[in-house]
Amino acid sequence: MTMSIDEALQIAKDAGFEVVAPMDPQKLTFMQDVRDMCEKNTCRQWGKKWTCPPACGTLEELEQRLLRYQEGVLFQTIAHMDGAFDYSGLEEAGKTLGAATTKLLDVLVARDEDIWPFGNDGCFNCAECTYPDEPCRFPERAYPSMEACGLMVMYVCRDNDVPYYYGEGTVAFTGGFLFNPKPE
Ligand code: SF4
Repeated sequence: MTMSIDEALQIAKDAGFEVVAPMDPQKLTFMQDVRDMCEKNTCRQWGKKWTCPPACGTLEELEQRLLRYQEGVLFQTIAHMDGAFDYSGLEEAGKTLGAATTKLLDVLVARDEDIWPFGNDGCFNCAECTYPDEPCRFPERAYPSMEACGLMVMYVCRDNDVPYYYGEGTVAFTGGFLFNPKPE
């Protein structure tokens, strides 16, 4: 038993995301190239979290798991910067994203439904992930990035008619969640 798409969009909006839109799970394209980028470890999260490769599963495993979802929501927080070196604009957007993600997870976890969340980055629920020494502290709140699942964010946005770029002086942070709808 899960929510309707309208309810899901409203939950994301109420959590504080600036842009919310439906995301079609059947349009997701799982790309080995994206996982290869993960392995180059430019974000320095590879092998550091339960929600990042290799612990989050192979590309094939993730594709199988995620394609069983029928509905999804894409959300964005947009940093509006006053010049390329306006780090305060980025920091402010980062705080907004963190607060909205926490609020969203609170609501989704309380519903106890079949939901798969994505963050803009790998999971930041804990100051330090327990990987690999102890089990995940909050498996029901843990979320991978889209990239960890082999998804190119730019293409996910394009395929769901959501802008990826909002023009000079902006950076969009993108995440989302997949869920299975309530049967009729
Ligand atoms: S919830 Fe904590 S322990 Fe679990 S993946 Fe996220 S950061 Fe790691």
